Amino acid sequence: MVSARPAVQALPAYKPGRNPADVAREIGVERAVKLASNEVAFPPLPAVVQALATAAAETNRYPDNGAVVLTRALAERYDVDPAQVVTGCGAVMLCQQLAQSYNDPGTSIAFAWRSFEMYPLLAQVAGARSIQVPLVPGRPGGPADTHDLEALAAAVDDTTRLVFVCNPNNPTGTAVRRPELVRFLDAVPAQTLVVLDEAYREFVTDPDVPDGLELMRGRPNVAVLRTFSKAWGLAGLRVGYLIAEDPAVADAVRKTHVPFSVSMLAQAAAVAALASEDEVRRRCAAVTAERERLTAALRERDLDVADSQANFVWLPVGEQTAELAGALEARAVITRPFAGEGIRVTVGTPEEDDVFLTALDDVRSGARVA
Ligand SMILES: *Cc1c(COP(=O)(O)O)cnc(C)c1O
Repeated sequence: MVSARPAVQALPAYKPGRNPADVAREIGVERAVKLASNEVAFPPLPAVVQALATAAAETNRYPDNGAVVLTRALAERYDVDPAQVVTGCGAVMLCQQLAQSYNDPGTSIAFAWRSFEMYPLLAQVAGARSIQVPLVPGRPGGPADTHDLEALAAAVDDTTRLVFVCNPNNPTGTAVRRPELVRFLDAVPAQTLVVLDEAYREFVTDPDVPDGLELMRGRPNVAVLRTFSKAWGLAGLRVGYLIAEDPAVADAVRKTHVPFSVSMLAQAAAVAALASEDEVRRRCAAVTAERERLTAALRERDLDVADSQANFVWLPVGEQTAELAGALEARAVITRPFAGEGIRVTVGTPEEDDVFLTALDDVRSGARVA
């Protein structure tokens, strides 16, 4: 019998999120609301649909493995050299490539916890040790929902090749501010690469939350990870990018690229999305306005919801998590529970969020599912 590596055997089995059509059928309603994966509720941008139609006619060919057109468009948009930019099959693939490129077995990857679920898994696959630094309360008496950057810097040791700082943090939505992040970057040793995971950067409205690309300048051990999956609306196409201050970092990540894994359709769509930035900004503004409305509505219901800088909010409901998420799902609202900790709820359309709020009120008032 063949056996997988012990590190792989120990990985949890992949548990797919519930599909809204299945949930709706199961409970006999017309449609379920999916607020589980932080996608935007808008349909693909018109320019993207157009670009996909055009690119479809060429899909008998392999894509450009170097994604030259997209890389150049990103370099121009963010005012960096194309040599500093590397694209990947979703930002998650770039996370995995970073571990492959920087972590030998026995080295470590440091990050806050709870944060993005992929970090511990990719460390395990790379044979690296996870150094997890607990979140701390962002305000006195509040739940532990915010990065403790001092503790994270202190936890970095001479085995640490990689540090992920997810800002804003998934799943809590909180963000670290400029002075503390600058202090952190100053404290991390030069041989440790700091990756600022800014998957939700486009939803940041607080001017004190720094743009990682600005902080990166002059710091060769810093890189910024972004994605087209969230604000840009391309989750189904799988394309993300890393911008590194030091082109050698981008080079190292390019070496672990799975050939042709950023498809021709993904490249064409991402270029078209970048050219539609005004429309994307309008959409993000609608999302952040709705985020404030949803946050206020939840606080009116006595839920201790932190200020979110992303397109989701965090309900720190602790031990009630599984039961509450289950009850919401029975009312056709799919959220993302983290058992024993809390529920992450994506900001949907105002209509979707009202369905969620009504379901929440029903559950909390003890109403029975019809
Ligand atoms: C969604 C997300 C990503 C990347 O998603 P892709 O779809 O793989 O580009 C990366 N980091 C965080 C924190 C995310 O939430």
